Amino acid sequence: MNLSDPRTIRELLAKSGFSFKKSLGQNFLIDPDVCPRMAQAACDSETGVLEIGPGIGVLTAELARRAKKVTAIELDERLKTVLPHTLADFGNIEIIYGDVMKLDLKQLLREKFADCEKIAVCANLPYYITSPIVMMLLESRLPVNKITVMVQKEAAERLCAEIGTRAAGAVSVAVRYYASPELLFTVGRESFMPAPNVDSAVIRLSVRQTPPVILRDEKAFFRLVKACFAQRRKTLLNTVSNTTGIRKEELRVALAALSLPETVRGEELTLEQLAALSDQLSITR
Ligand code: SAM
Repeated sequence: MNLSDPRTIRELLAKSGFSFKKSLGQNFLIDPDVCPRMAQAACDSETGVLEIGPGIGVLTAELARRAKKVTAIELDERLKTVLPHTLADFGNIEIIYGDVMKLDLKQLLREKFADCEKIAVCANLPYYITSPIVMMLLESRLPVNKITVMVQKEAAERLCAEIGTRAAGAVSVAVRYYASPELLFTVGRESFMPAPNVDSAVIRLSVRQTPPVILRDEKAFFRLVKACFAQRRKTLLNTVSNTTGIRKEELRVALAALSLPETVRGEELTLEQLAALSDQLSITR
């Protein structure tokens, strides 16, 4: 069955009375080149793959062809009548119906992939929940080597932005703390059914085994990073003192200790400088 063919998809979905739900980010891929490219970038025959949101299974099938096994989590139970049919040819796929944000993924990966050398995540993520899913995957410190996901193009650029550039935000710093990001390729809106109003891109996050900076207090670091980017036009001194309880005088002392000017903006700092500032503040507080 050609799961990239719009006519096949329409017939298949009509049979089970399925209609697309925008609220679930249901834009299914119809470009036959995209899923093989994503699957190739995501896994090999030693890998157990966790897929989020299989839809009708177009990416799931490509993953199953290349990976050792695939476990896919789908929120929409209406697909229960579709997926067993579309993925009938594969013996290495398991579908779990549930919300990826509510499942115990650590436990699930342990259970499903005990016999796999590597574990990867691959997904065409629903737009409405892209960054929360990416951050949840990174922050839960899952035993995952690579995360290859399609997201809105602007989100991809932000997630992969170099720290210290204008394109970066708090989320770019968080991503670089946990992983090495790469933007692999862009995908036009016409590659989906129904076509969304935005273009997409596939990114790959290679999860770090050890963080690039050693922090005194990780929570304090992320609070500082969030504050640094909260009011981008303001200096770090102003935005951090406005959005946290840290006094300007304390910040002045910490900036001086790191030879940073009082006029510096949060977005100008490197990961190492942000880490050093966070550590410096935790010493003086
Ligand atoms: N993988 C398919 C493809 O590429 O054509 C479908 C991708 S579609 C962009 C996103 C999928 O995620 C939909 O099937 C949707 O029902 C599912 N989904 C949405 N929210 C979810 C959640 N919280 N947990 C698991 N799946 C979810």
